[in-house]
Amino acid sequence: MTTHILNFKKKLEEEKVILIKQLQEVGRINPDDTTDWEPVAASLDINQSEIEERATEITSFEDRSAVEYELEGRLNEINAALVAIANNTYGICKVCKSPIEEARLEANPSAMTCMAHME
Ligand SMILES: [Zn+2]
Repeated sequence: MTTHILNFKKKLEEEKVILIKQLQEVGRINPDDTTDWEPVAASLDINQSEIEERATEITSFEDRSAVEYELEGRLNEINAALVAIANNTYGICKVCKSPIEEARLEANPSAMTCMAHME
């Protein structure tokens, strides 16, 4: 495994930790399917000073669901990239099987396509 891949792996793992923290703010792991997250309503037992501290606290369930969905999508991309690293298929465009440009991976370490095949 090249140093570059290890570097991307580290970035992916760091982002994964952050994403899981953010997901825990708006949701929880689905008890029936531990690979899935589901949104939960904002906790009502936080006190007033805490509410003021969290000026950006997302309280509406619809907003929380949208955020949860987005975070979960990103987490799935990162997990897929980590699986690709483990399987030695990381950095290969899934469309044309060419190596993905270094700059593209720098910008998005979970990219699965080269610049020509960006979605
Ligand atoms: Zn391609």
